[in-house]
Amino acid sequence: MSLPDSTTTPDPDPDPGPGPGPGPDPGPELVALALPGTARGDLPGQAQVRWRRSARARRVSLRIDARSGSVVVTLPPRAGRRQGMALLSVHAAWVAERLAMLAPHLALAPGAAVPLGGAPHVLRHRPGAAAPDQAEALGHTETLGQAAAPGQAGAAWLEPGAIVLGGAEATVARRAGEFLKAEARRRITALAGGHTAQLGVQLGGIRLKDTRSRWGSCAPDGTLAFSWRLVMAPDWVLDYVVAHEVAHLRELNHSDRFWALVAGLTPHRDAAVAWLKAHGPGLLRVG
Ligand SMILES: [Zn+2]
Repeated sequence: MSLPDSTTTPDPDPDPGPGPGPGPDPGPELVALALPGTARGDLPGQAQVRWRRSARARRVSLRIDARSGSVVVTLPPRAGRRQGMALLSVHAAWVAERLAMLAPHLALAPGAAVPLGGAPHVLRHRPGAAAPDQAEALGHTETLGQAAAPGQAGAAWLEPGAIVLGGAEATVARRAGEFLKAEARRRITALAGGHTAQLGVQLGGIRLKDTRSRWGSCAPDGTLAFSWRLVMAPDWVLDYVVAHEVAHLRELNHSDRFWALVAGLTPHRDAAVAWLKAHGPGLLRVG
């Protein structure tokens, strides 16, 4: 059998590719494994396991899901959990190592330092506060996004080094996520506008997703899809992924012509790919 190398790191890819397997997700199950050096947050010797049935799978396989911090065991039609457990036992050391390598989970709670554009922003809950006038907040409006209008309950706004949320504390996590997604849409739209203008191509639309297998994609109808989590990456990384997908509007392939288009849009291809490889899995651990 072969273990996936790093299937948890999304890559920009134009192909729709296979989706998740059919059937409802039964949720994680805590399975006792003889894990040497246990994973953070888990009980000693235990790992969260998700069982996945796949009609297309030919053999039992394992992969680490960075987002949930669990190990996913894929079972082909005629295999049972016993075979899955057997494979888990054989590869317990690999599982433990990979789980331990995951960045710590970062909850969207007050006090958390959430990266935005690559820089940490502390989530601050200020109940009853009204969002300040945009110009006052940062001295400029360029990097300021809002999930709600100023003065509205539940408003969210940027201050230097902070994302500030009014409203009820119980909804902070949800609204912080909404704020990040709104900010992602705003920044991606602006970047895509510049790149489509430069290439003279027409954008079909922008969709935000929470993908774990790819950072961006381009559909044949010209709709570009992006992981909202890219808003947490440095601006030049986000810009590379947007440039990559916009270039697919001209070349829906990875030919030399395609890469030449990308190079004309951004000089950061190699550095951005390296950044995503190194730090992308950590983005999946937020929220
Ligand atoms: Zn691509």
